[in-house]
Amino acid sequence: MRGWIVPPPKAPTKTASDYACERERKVRGLESRGLLKSPRIRAALLKVPREEFIPRDYRDYAYWEVPLPLPGAAATISCPHSYPLFYEPLGLDRGHRFLEVGTGSGYGAAVAREIVGDEGLVVSIEIDALTYEFAKHNLERAGYSNVLLVLGDGGLGYPAAAPYDRIAVTAACPRIPAPLTEQLTTGGRAIAPLREDDRQVLTLVTKQPDGVRRETICDVLYVALRGEYGTDSSANGFPAGDTWTAR
Ligand code: SAH
Repeated sequence: MRGWIVPPPKAPTKTASDYACERERKVRGLESRGLLKSPRIRAALLKVPREEFIPRDYRDYAYWEVPLPLPGAAATISCPHSYPLFYEPLGLDRGHRFLEVGTGSGYGAAVAREIVGDEGLVVSIEIDALTYEFAKHNLERAGYSNVLLVLGDGGLGYPAAAPYDRIAVTAACPRIPAPLTEQLTTGGRAIAPLREDDRQVLTLVTKQPDGVRRETICDVLYVALRGEYGTDSSANGFPAGDTWTAR
């Protein structure tokens, strides 16, 4: 299995204005690579202080193109370009009801919150209790009290707030878990890294009245989805019940 290189932990040295400069430079870089086009996604990436979602000893690397480790069994904050990589094809926009599976640091949820605005909704589900606590703390500290954070198996979705216009799964799975497609509106879109042999292919599905349309985007590398829908054998199984709790 391929992996990624984690830079060495160290005490942070950068100031808020260093981070602000790096954030602006990063956004310009994403635009020039053609990864970032939507003005709302751009404004969100410029606004959310990514360094606030990273453990202290990795904070100096906040704007490096590497995933960084988070508290929990298998969690990382994805590299900065991942967010437009997911949110641009999703067409995430003002007013959307958005579900994220795999909260990680909470950064993706904060960016989504800025994009959907006050009329929209952001629900984010994390399966690992330690990671969930970390994200909760980060989101509160950064002022994002309006994200509905859920501790549970995101493969089951969160029916209490369904339907969703857009869903992002930020962990690799064999296929989009059936409950997620069920909880999408008709015309809604979901995106996920889907495992195909030893590859992971970022895949966009659009729910249509008579089924789903699939489009592949590019190869990616994410941590594995845990829970009911993480393995091939369980992907067609029925959800084990309502194992989520909203807090
Ligand atoms: N979007 C995150 C990065 C996600 S890393 C960010 O912006 O930082 C993938 C996350 O998915 C990990 O935190 C992992 O614990 C979580 N995860 C894995 N399987 C899950 C499941 N079935 N339900 C919810 N979260 C899951």
